[in-house]
Amino acid sequence: MEIVPLTSSHGNTLVAPFQKSFSEACPSLIHMPVDVFIEICSHLPHYDLLNLMCVCRRFYYWLNSTTSYTTQDIWRTSRLKFDKYMKLDPPEGMDEISFIRLSMIEKKCQICKSDHDIPKIYWAFRVRLCIKCFKKRVTIAPDKIPEWAKDPIDITLVLPHEYLSISRNVTKCVYWTSELTSTLQECLFIPTEELGDWIFNKQITAKNKIEDATKRIKNDQIRLDWLLKEKKDLLDKTVKTLENIKDIKGKKIYLKNYIISQPTYQKALSTLKTPFMDTDPWPNLYKKLKNDLAIKRHRKLIIRRILQLLTSYRKLSDSKGEIFLNDPVLDCLEWCPTFIKPPEKLKDVDDVVLRIRDEAREYLKKRLHKRRGPFSTIEGCNKLLKTCNKTHVPLFKCKLCWGSGRKSYSYAGVNRHLMCQSAHNLYYSDIDDSMIEIDREKVRKLISTWLNNKVLLKTS
Ligand SMILES: [Zn+2]
Ligand SMILES: [Zn+2]
Repeated sequence: MEIVPLTSSHGNTLVAPFQKSFSEACPSLIHMPVDVFIEICSHLPHYDLLNLMCVCRRFYYWLNSTTSYTTQDIWRTSRLKFDKYMKLDPPEGMDEISFIRLSMIEKKCQICKSDHDIPKIYWAFRVRLCIKCFKKRVTIAPDKIPEWAKDPIDITLVLPHEYLSISRNVTKCVYWTSELTSTLQECLFIPTEELGDWIFNKQITAKNKIEDATKRIKNDQIRLDWLLKEKKDLLDKTVKTLENIKDIKGKKIYLKNYIISQPTYQKALSTLKTPFMDTDPWPNLYKKLKNDLAIKRHRKLIIRRILQLLTSYRKLSDSKGEIFLNDPVLDCLEWCPTFIKPPEKLKDVDDVVLRIRDEAREYLKKRLHKRRGPFSTIEGCNKLLKTCNKTHVPLFKCKLCWGSGRKSYSYAGVNRHLMCQSAHNLYYSDIDDSMIEIDREKVRKLISTWLNNKVLLKTS
């Protein structure tokens, strides 16, 4: 057994500066008897073992031995126990760790580590590559095989090959380019009388590799499908868990449609076609999603309360007071930090509304933003109409008319009314905004549409 005695310390190694705090933090880990270590390992999936290797030099040493039976055993046990699609034994001459590492398609292309393409394991060459990296490193037979590779013998006769599909109907044999050169070099050093045996042995090895490769292709596909399904299940489970959160009355808080419309969810969904998930593919997805949803829900509650206050008049004024059209809480709402990121636990919406109101006033005082409103003015209303793309909504009344039957007009409409011969018959130059007043009822209604549609969307 190659594993070092457990009493040896790290000595003057690179980890020495961390050793003190490490051993203080977990003395039992550093002085762990080897059989305990092996026992622990037997309960870990291979990706945890890979992580464990990075913990310290000793673990690395124990787990990285390609010759120790114990080490090989640890990896084999883990592979057979935790990965139902890694049941085939390693190919001839390959140790367990290299085999597991190569089999893990979820670990991306060995060369470029690209996130976009799913790599393929080319067992005859013992590499896992994306198609781009593969194409760069192979030579296509027969036309691309260089002349030098055919002298003194045709080297391709003793090498394993893989296949590359050139177009829809054309698949060609390919050889690993660096293997062409290295095998030729090897061949040049073989004495002539031994060449026959050498060729024979090489051909057997190549044949075995090719046969072994065909045996594994199907398994790789099954494993890939399984990984993709696991990933999808994980996402579905996250949604289910969120869906099952209920309020005190037992009512669902987050509806499915609401959850899957979140950008965080959509982003996760867009990566479903790649299997990369040896660890968590979307760290903290649940927490992020829940947080997004909670914020949105809180914003809704705040807006609802503001709308209540806006339309309450005097009825509710003794409790927390109504909101007037010129209150900056309305037109500065989307800039207020408390509204953008409402408190995680919302005990009293009224308090939050008060806080937002203060923030809005503070903003105005410091002139941090140019105010679009207030909505009690014609200018504010015109801007509100523009934001809602509803320039023809009648929000204005003529001040010169009086009586109960006064009509509401659009801004252009009220101007026309003032100029109309049968009404006030004013010259265009005589008209000014002091003759126009706003229809508060209608402005309130438009504000509620604006808050519900625009502001809520804009701050999501
Ligand atoms: Zn690649
Ligand atoms: Zn009038």
